[in-house]
Amino acid sequence: MEKHEVVIVGAGPAGLTAAKRLAEKGEEVLIVEKEKDKDIGNKVCAGAISPKTINIFPEKLFETFTHKISFFTPSLKELTVESEKPFMGMVSRLELGQYMLDEALKSGASLKDNCEVKKIDVKEKTLNGGEIGYEKLIAADGTTSVVRKALGLKRKEFLCFQWTLPNTTHDKLEVYLSFTRFGFGAMYLFPHDDYIVIGGGGADPRRPIKDFRDYTKKFFEKRFDFSSATYGAAGVSFDYKGHRFGDITLLGDAGGFGNLITGEGISQAILSAEMEFGSEKEKIRERIVLPKRRHNLMLRGYRIADTLNLPKLLDPVADKSAGIFQSMVQNRVVNSWVNSEVL
Ligand SMILES: Cc1cc2nc3c(=O)[nH]c(=O)nc-3n(C[C@H](O)[C@H](O)[C@H](O)COP(=O)(O)OP(=O)(O)OC[C@H]3O[C@@H](n4cnc5c(N)ncnc54)[C@H](O)[C@@H]3O)c2cc1C
Repeated sequence: MEKHEVVIVGAGPAGLTAAKRLAEKGEEVLIVEKEKDKDIGNKVCAGAISPKTINIFPEKLFETFTHKISFFTPSLKELTVESEKPFMGMVSRLELGQYMLDEALKSGASLKDNCEVKKIDVKEKTLNGGEIGYEKLIAADGTTSVVRKALGLKRKEFLCFQWTLPNTTHDKLEVYLSFTRFGFGAMYLFPHDDYIVIGGGGADPRRPIKDFRDYTKKFFEKRFDFSSATYGAAGVSFDYKGHRFGDITLLGDAGGFGNLITGEGISQAILSAEMEFGSEKEKIRERIVLPKRRHNLMLRGYRIADTLNLPKLLDPVADKSAGIFQSMVQNRVVNSWVNSEVL
């Protein structure tokens, strides 16, 4: 049996950030990843990086930056906001993965690719029936984490689906909100350089995702050609139940760090690893762990409202008040979002 000081399961943004930080401190680190090395990063994702971590990457990694967002109310009233600082930096997930892998390996971490972890013996501290032993185990294996499952923790997901439309350009990010149509979620369009990503997501398991998906395709088909589109769907795990369990640490989606309101998880994955193994631990905790309680309360509030059939009343209110909120969104929401860098 091969034995390592630290074994990290999963080479996503969480695992690769942890690997880099620990290897820099001189720890002996093995990353175990089910995909082949050249495919690391190739994941169903819109590839939008929020200002929280935009500054840690070289500019050349970004295909484009988004400076303009249009929010649409349930009756499609448009509220457009612009900013000199970008709302999002758009990347190819494969290129992001390859860049982060390179950084982790340069720092001294090792990679065992093409190796799926199927079994964990928490008492013996081994993986796959004694094939690999560990002193410390880091779970960074995403939403369907086998390590989280071995610890007996359930998961709750923000379900996301998307189409990537090649050879298509657009000048702004679009977000569509409607309590009756999308529940506690949204439909969106993300512009990249020569392609766009159209999709949606939400955290309400009672609302059939199939209806949401069909509506989204039909809605956007009026404007864009889906004939060469590629489709994908997956969950973003948001149910944080703590991240330190003895010798095991849960990071990123495996730890439920995904954002329940926006469905974003790249920055949260990176920050969860930085919180554990980088500097500025308390500052990061305040930004990614503490909001979870507030978000969960909002979801609970929404579910009660939904049971009482209130979304039907909320949609017209959202339509009527869109104008009133224009300046508040421009001044407060936009400013706090574009200036939300943590690192
Ligand atoms: C449709 C969709 C769109 C999204 N768009 C955005 C977006 O625009 N911006 C944003 O910030 N977030 C987005 N997200 C969320 C984001 O993709 C995730 O939150 C983020 O990738 C989490 O990073 P992670 O490192 O925790 O896990 P992951 O990126 O999922 O990485 C996990 C790694 O572990 C490996 N692995 C899994 N199981 C095993 C195993 N058993 N053995 C070995 N290896 C294993 C996987 O192959 C993978 O490499 C989106 C998600 C979806 C589904």
